[in-house]
Amino acid sequence: MTYSTTTQSQTKNIVIIGGGITGLSAAYYLKKEQRATGYPLSITLIEAGDKLGGKITTEKVDGFTIEGGPDCFLRQKPWAAELAEELGIGEDLIGTNDDKRRVYVLANGKLTPLPDGVMLIIPTKIMPFALSPLISLPGKIRMGMDLFIPPFKGGDDESVGDFIRRRLGKEALYKIAEPLMSGIHVSDPEKQSLLATFPRFRNIEQKHGSLIKGMLAQKKAASHQPKPSSKLNSLFISLKNGVEQLINSLENALNDCRIYKSTKVESINPTTENKYNVQLSNGETIVADAIIMAIPSFNAAELIQPISSNIATQLETIPYVSTATISMAFRKQDILKPFSGFGFVIPSTENRDISACTWSSIKFDNRAPDDHLLLRCFVGGPGKEAMVALDDEEMVRTAHKELSLILGLNADPVFTRVYRWEKANPQYEVGHLERVQEIFSTCLQETPGIYLTGSAYEGVGIPDCVNQGKKTAAQLLEYIQKEQVFA
Ligand SMILES: Cc1cc2nc3c(=O)[nH]c(=O)nc-3n(C[C@H](O)[C@H](O)[C@H](O)COP(=O)(O)OP(=O)(O)OC[C@H]3O[C@@H](n4cnc5c(N)ncnc54)[C@H](O)[C@@H]3O)c2cc1C
Repeated sequence: MTYSTTTQSQTKNIVIIGGGITGLSAAYYLKKEQRATGYPLSITLIEAGDKLGGKITTEKVDGFTIEGGPDCFLRQKPWAAELAEELGIGEDLIGTNDDKRRVYVLANGKLTPLPDGVMLIIPTKIMPFALSPLISLPGKIRMGMDLFIPPFKGGDDESVGDFIRRRLGKEALYKIAEPLMSGIHVSDPEKQSLLATFPRFRNIEQKHGSLIKGMLAQKKAASHQPKPSSKLNSLFISLKNGVEQLINSLENALNDCRIYKSTKVESINPTTENKYNVQLSNGETIVADAIIMAIPSFNAAELIQPISSNIATQLETIPYVSTATISMAFRKQDILKPFSGFGFVIPSTENRDISACTWSSIKFDNRAPDDHLLLRCFVGGPGKEAMVALDDEEMVRTAHKELSLILGLNADPVFTRVYRWEKANPQYEVGHLERVQEIFSTCLQETPGIYLTGSAYEGVGIPDCVNQGKKTAAQLLEYIQKEQVFA
């Protein structure tokens, strides 16, 4: 059966493939533009899973709010918070409990606090850093040499590992940068592109000649700005009912779009009229004037292969790794040694089976009943993907064993939840920005009207995905206007 939503000849069919945060944001901003301008668009969003959200999933159990995927997003990148405001849930944005802020690093088997004043891995307070046992004296002296090392010449990309080693030395890389940064990018720093993941560091280096000087200058400038009084001042923010609240609000705001769940796009074929036949797993075919593919790059490669093997081959060069999160709830009365802080990270040199643990109900309010504690462990990532292949029981047992060795936590959890994320974390390797530019420009030439967007390309964080969805919606509208698709 061929199905077309075109009721008037000028109504244009837009198909969005993927109901994660990027696809939903694209749909939302297309709808917004349509309402403002009256463009005759018919938007259909197709999601293979039985619910929307993709990597974003929040489970509510007996007063617990459990995040299966992301649990927060960076405040400094404003797009997700702006979207929440537009959706009317701005009041539900929450900051972290910064009065309890403390992050630990496992060093030689012992949890050691990250010294106060370390901003994005760079020390900005002399005394706490000088007194910290985390870095050896030679390591501290080497970090201080950042003040004198000349900045990188030219605009070439380099690995995060090379950059940190060059500026701050290898101890800073292995004990601070690698474990803290892998919380966001789950990448091997020796392969991870500096320009695609932390361009800010290169900018600071080039502007101030030193990371430490640059961070101090930024701190000074920020101290002259009026301080927002709310808790939203924290580095990371979330939503009262969990990150999925953003997805639910988007779904409500899109109630006049056609949304298919549990439906997969199986193939896309160009028609002779510059359109595309989008074949769905339920047997329908939608004739689309333009398509947004907000899906992992390896899924996009499969769909685009029959149209452009060139683009498919380029897409296949973006690698992915698998991870899993294990949430565990404990009764506070069973915990002999109380915790304070947001959790700990583990450098890969410590060779442990978990890579980090967040104390979710300390980091955010509304995550557990008062008499319970909710923790979340991370496993997997580069070189450690075998952990993700364990069955749930074995994975929980391994994580629990690690917690008892590291924290002395011997209490039994009252419940556990495992979320497996297979091939879920795209790896932005050195040269990623150029690779993506090449993919996008080949798309423009070989598959006009098809747009690739989402976490594989221009940022993995939720705000980056929202921004990409918004940008892609604008590009698509420009295309249909320029091509006189509305004529
Ligand atoms: C464990 C984990 C923790 C994270 N923590 C954070 C965090 O704390 N903060 C943060 O900012 N970011 C975090 N991230 C990253 C962030 O969650 C993701 O980058 C982001 O959610 C990706 O959104 P997306 O819409 O681009 O892709 P996805 O969420 O992957 O959505 C793509 C959707 O496309 C669907 N799909 C695929 N193929 C087809 C097809 N052929 N037909 C129809 N549908 C299809 C999939 O089912 C999926 O739902 C985390 C990621 C993981 C895995």
